Amino acid sequence: MKKWNLIIDVAKCFDCNNCFLSCKDEFDGNDFPPYSLAQPRHGQRWMNIMRKERGQYPLIDIAYRPTLCMHCDDAPCISKADGAIYKRDDGIVLVDLEKAKDRKDLVDVCPYGAIWWNEEKAIPQMCTFCVHLLEDGWDKPRCVQACPTGALSVVQAEDSEMAEIVKSENLEVLHPEYNTKPRVYYKNLYRYSKCFIAGNVALKDTDECAEGAKITLNKGSEKGIATAEVNNYGDFRIDNLDEEGGQYTVEIEYSGYEKQELSVDLKNSINLGTIFL
Ligand code: SF4
Ligand code: SF4
Repeated sequence: MKKWNLIIDVAKCFDCNNCFLSCKDEFDGNDFPPYSLAQPRHGQRWMNIMRKERGQYPLIDIAYRPTLCMHCDDAPCISKADGAIYKRDDGIVLVDLEKAKDRKDLVDVCPYGAIWWNEEKAIPQMCTFCVHLLEDGWDKPRCVQACPTGALSVVQAEDSEMAEIVKSENLEVLHPEYNTKPRVYYKNLYRYSKCFIAGNVALKDTDECAEGAKITLNKGSEKGIATAEVNNYGDFRIDNLDEEGGQYTVEIEYSGYEKQELSVDLKNSINLGTIFL
């Protein structure tokens, strides 16, 4: 059977909040029984956009990571809910509005922090994948329809087809160590979860940028684990490195100049500043 999946491209999200607002617009003041009761106007963020700044001025990068219920296949919220949260055959995870009454404890069982408490109605709430719209013939939830950049997209596929897409498009899940088998996948997640080494290379004698200089990254005995080229502004960046990655050596080579080597103890994204050859 085909099931719903959501793909989020972190590189295409620029924090316009249209997804968040369209979710609010859909659910604020509107009940869609048996799937959902109205979302409070304030306090809940079923579509929650997380923000992260990497690097130091002027070589900085800001990434936005829309985060919501992952509609997990091995959902801890379901295993601890005694039927108050359930999964449909199409992959969507929903709250049972009657059984979940007064179950404030369920807010804490989601490792992604995707469940919110509605004080007035005394129920836990979260993204419903706009299931009421899908049942009305929509082919996507409101957030996906509202996204102007294509950062959000849905795929309705058999699990085997989805596994192929995950492989071919290099998709990842958030916190795979939670082992919950999310149905929400991320593209370019490194922009949020990994770090970079960046810098600027200039020529001491002329003050010009060393455009085209070759940057090689080594880690202990592992030589050339990544390379980059200095651009026409004199900048370089090697991204997708693990935070707290340890000791690296950055080699800079430029024809006619002596090779330079810098040691970097990588904890978070770092701008090495201007390096003169
Ligand atoms: S993200 Fe949280 S609320 Fe959603 S299915 Fe997974 S465990 Fe449940
Ligand atoms: S609508 Fe799209 S681009 Fe705007 S914040 Fe949401 S995911 Fe990002």
